[in-house]
Amino acid sequence: MGYTMTAPVVSSLRPGSGSRTLLRFRPRFRLLLACLCWLGLSALGGWAVYQGAEQAALEEVQDAGRNRLALYATSLQREIDKYAFFPGIVALQADVQAVLAQPGNSALQRKANTYLEQLSSRAGTLSVYLVDRSGHVLASSNWRRPDSFVGEDLSFRPYVQQALQGGSGRYFGIGTTRGEPGYYLTSTVHSGEGQDVGVAVVKVGLAQLEQSWATAESPVWVSDENSVLILSNVPAWRFATLTELDAAQRARLESSQQYNRRSLKPLGWKLEQPLEDRGTGQVAGAQLLHIAQGEQDSPAFSSGQFLLQSKALAGTPWTLSVLSPTQASMQLAQSRAWVAGVVIALILLLAAQFYQRRKHAREQLAARQRLQQAYAVLESKVEQRTADLQAANTALQQEVGERIQAEATLRAAQDELVHAGKLAVIGQISTEVAHELNQPLAALRTLAGNSQRFLERGQHEVVRSNLQRMADLTDRMGRITGQLRNFARKSFGKPAAVELDKALDAALAVLEARIARSGAIVVRKSASPPVMAWCDAGRVEQVLVNLLGNALDSMQDQALSGRRPCVELECARNQQWAQITVRDHGPGLSEQAASHLFEPFFTTKPEGQGLGLGLSLSANIAQASGGMLQGRNHPEGGAVFTLLLPLVDTQPLA
Ligand code: ADP
Repeated sequence: MGYTMTAPVVSSLRPGSGSRTLLRFRPRFRLLLACLCWLGLSALGGWAVYQGAEQAALEEVQDAGRNRLALYATSLQREIDKYAFFPGIVALQADVQAVLAQPGNSALQRKANTYLEQLSSRAGTLSVYLVDRSGHVLASSNWRRPDSFVGEDLSFRPYVQQALQGGSGRYFGIGTTRGEPGYYLTSTVHSGEGQDVGVAVVKVGLAQLEQSWATAESPVWVSDENSVLILSNVPAWRFATLTELDAAQRARLESSQQYNRRSLKPLGWKLEQPLEDRGTGQVAGAQLLHIAQGEQDSPAFSSGQFLLQSKALAGTPWTLSVLSPTQASMQLAQSRAWVAGVVIALILLLAAQFYQRRKHAREQLAARQRLQQAYAVLESKVEQRTADLQAANTALQQEVGERIQAEATLRAAQDELVHAGKLAVIGQISTEVAHELNQPLAALRTLAGNSQRFLERGQHEVVRSNLQRMADLTDRMGRITGQLRNFARKSFGKPAAVELDKALDAALAVLEARIARSGAIVVRKSASPPVMAWCDAGRVEQVLVNLLGNALDSMQDQALSGRRPCVELECARNQQWAQITVRDHGPGLSEQAASHLFEPFFTTKPEGQGLGLGLSLSANIAQASGGMLQGRNHPEGGAVFTLLLPLVDTQPLA
């Protein structure tokens, strides 16, 4: 047995319009949210990378700056230290000692001047000179020049005062005579008795150093104790101040003429943030600084964002500072951040795609499993149903068999009953039949006797006539017994087109004797063309014999009381039916008879006259032929029985 599998019907939810809208918007909203998350995470990643890269870049810049700072500090220190012992040596020189001992001796002065001149030119210093205790220059290397220091009062110069008070000093200043910036190294000159008699001063120019810085790619400077930039590779910044000088400081510098009336403009830089040292985590003196585009003569590298790193120079009150540009590093950090952002975005996209694929695969697997489960459930159900159906089929077949058997039994019983009914009818009419037969028999007897005598007399004509009459009588008797034999025949034929009038004729023939004895009038109405019914002629005949018999029975009393019984018979077409009505003029159906009319063994007739099977069998026969039998009282009295049978339409088409 084959079964067709159909996919299980999944009932769909029918949400309200509000939730439908929500369902429609939810995927869009989720997509938007996912996009925002994606962008946010990419930006966050980029930002984090930027932070790290910036930090790393700044640390790199810081390391480079630190190295530069160390390098510059070393070279500066070397440059200064080169002349460190120089004033001390000058102070010990005999000619110097001599001129201080005899300041008015011009020969000694000349000697000292010459010595200092030679010394200065050999050592490459700006100038070397000797100052007495009152602060006046006694001898100088530039004694030949018109702007010679000789005779000048330098007592106001701090380095002179420093040397006279403490023995030696270092000082950066701008020369009052030639306005030349330089580094002053001083040493006290002691007399043979150990008294301070003067100061030996060596002025070293640092322009060479500055020149070597000029090739540096970023600003470098040295600021002194007053925060004045005394050396710088940015010319515009020279003699500018890192911080604003107050009035007192200005007055002091004015009086010492340290910077020889230079304007000392403040640079006005704003420090952005102190940076932490990578190793210690403490503030390492490095600071971020932003410098706006400077004057036109400023080098291009002197503007932008820088890292400021400073270092105190040992043995001096100076601070060496370098600025390292951070722009390139920052740009690099930015580029790295962008690349990282893009890479993160791509990774996220790939991850999302991977996740979607995994999810899809999982869903597919789950769906397949559900389908397999449903299939398994369905298959088990189908198996169960098949088993049930097979069981039901077997039971049904068994039942059908039983029914067929029961039907056969029933039909046999019915046939037996019909036959019994017939026999009952025959029993009822046997008296009339005997009577009918007795008459011709008696006539035969008489005719036979007469014929014998006429034969003896030789009256052959009369004998012939008698023999003819006898033959007629035997024919009549044969007809009577033949009809009875036909009626009593047990087996019936198959349904066929039967002309109802002919069936009625046969029934009337069976009852002919009885009708004749009762003196009943039979009124017949027929249709033209004759009405044909699809039925078994023998059975219909039996029904009609029953109905006619009952009609005659009902009018029995009328005959006794002298009224002539009357039976009205009609064959007609009634829609799809072939119809025969049998009407009598008797008392009609009693109330009891009307309600039990077709029940078997219901009879109101005295015992021996009726079995109560006639109408019940007739109704069964009508039903088996596809028709029906109805019984009612006529409004004008008497009972009317109507037999309806399937019509065989013989009417010509209009
Ligand atoms: P039976 O004739 O053996 O009594 P039926 O089945 O033929 O059995 O009839 C049942 C009963 O119906 C009758 O006993 C009678 O009372 C009633 N009956 C039948 N036909 C008529 C009729 N034409 N007029 C009055 N009563 C009838």
